[in-house]
Parts: sequence; C-alpha cells; structure tokens
Amino acid sequence: MFKNIVISVICLLLFAPECFAQYTRTEKTMKIQLIRNATMKITYAGRTILADPMLSPKGAMDPFAGIARNPTIDLTMKTEEILSSVECVLITHNHPDHFDTAAIGIISKEMPIFCQGGDEEKIKEAGFTSVTPVETSREWNNIKIIRTGGKHGSGKVLEHMGKVSGFILTAKGEPIVYWVGDSIWCVEVKEAIEKYRPDIIITHSGGAKVPGFEPILMDAAQTAGLAKYAPKSSIVAIHMESLDHCTVTRESLRFEADKAGISASRLVIPKDGEILSF
Ligand SMILES: [Zn+2]
Repeated sequence: MFKNIVISVICLLLFAPECFAQYTRTEKTMKIQLIRNATMKITYAGRTILADPMLSPKGAMDPFAGIARNPTIDLTMKTEEILSSVECVLITHNHPDHFDTAAIGIISKEMPIFCQGGDEEKIKEAGFTSVTPVETSREWNNIKIIRTGGKHGSGKVLEHMGKVSGFILTAKGEPIVYWVGDSIWCVEVKEAIEKYRPDIIITHSGGAKVPGFEPILMDAAQTAGLAKYAPKSSIVAIHMESLDHCTVTRESLRFEADKAGISASRLVIPKDGEILSF
C-alpha cells in the first residue's frame, strides 16, 4: 500500500510538468487573424504582431494587371481595431500590397518594424524610427524571427520583382511558424521546410500574374504540392481575392486541394477577419 502511494507520488512529480505544459498548449495562445490579402494579426508568445499591413480602402491604388483598381475589396475591420494591441510590424518586402501609403500614414512612427535587409532605408525615410533589418535572424521579446528566401516569380519577370523574404517564428512553447511570403514554390521554400520542420506554413497562394509573364506567386497546384511536401504541417493559405492580378480564388484553391486529397482542416483558407487558433 505504502509502496503504491510512493510510486503514485513519484509519477505525479515526474509527469505533472508535462501535464501542465499540455494544459497550457491547449489554451491555444497562438492566433492568426487574416485581415485582408497578406495582412495578418498574429498573436505569438503573448505578443501581437501585424504582418504586411496594406490598409488602403478599396480602389486606392492603380491596377497591377489592368483589370481593376486595388485593393479590389474593402477591409472588414476598422483600422483602429486592426492596430489595437499591435506591438510590432513585420514586413516581407516593400511592395505596395504589403506596406502601403495608408499603413505608413496610420501606424505610429515609433512602432518597432522588422523588415528584410535592404528595405530598412526606405521605411526609415517614411519616418519610422525603430526599423530593424533581418538579414539572418533577430530576437524580439523571446521570439526568434528568422529570414528565409524565396522567388517572386520565374523567368523574365523575376528580374523586375526584386528581393523577397519569408520569416520563421519560433518561441518556447509555441508552434514553429513559417510565413513563406511572396514566393512561388521553389528550392528556397523546400529548404526552409526541410530545415525548420514548421508546424504551420502560411502561403501566399493567389497565383498573381503580370500579363504576359509567368505567375509571381504560388498558384493552387503549387500550394497543394507544398502541402503534400510537408504532410505534418498545417497550411494557412492567404493573399487571395484582394488584388486584380491574383488568379486563384479561395474556391479554386479548395477544389485543387480536394483533388489532391488535402483536407480543409489541414489546408485552411481563412476568410477576411477570421481568427485561427493553434
Ligand atoms: Zn504580394
């Protein structure tokens, strides 16, 4: 009897931290709220990060493909609500659908901003005083932000698109997130998946096309290919139905994923404003 009690106490002491860790994980602290296009509010390790802010109203920018003014839809939330509790901004690259004049005007100039190396001067010129380029990796409030490469297209169009980045986010007790950024399915993306084994992969799956050129973003088939390549990862597909040059719709991506046998719970396509918890 006494022996049994001792064994029980030892087991409790050994496994209690584990149970506690599982309990805290099931609280689902990590959240991704899709705002529109690539703009997301990410709650990670208790911090709130605004990703790729494009905050212009519908039609504020010229067309990219000669089809319609951009963005093609309005925000579903007020900008004050989007910016509330935001503690830093993370920008994959300097194109206007990822950091626009509205965002430059609205976001506090003291807001910490992390960007890819080479984009910092332009952001500082816009008046921001706390701009940190991420060449390889940076640490911010116990969150590691690691830069990954990518290709914003293929063939001739690639020369015009410039450098792009993705980011890995890691923190103790949080899932590993790989935000691919504006890239097609390419060797850099494959290598990042192999190296970091992300739990969650955020893809820009709009299959954007500049007329006469190859796609500059992953399309539906490439996104399904990525999901098959990373069978243990959850995929969150965004950057659709907000800009005139994007050819992939949420419906066409779901159709392609179904065809490839990828479930809606593994490849999630959020609506604008929707909050996903992990
Ligand atoms: Zn883009």
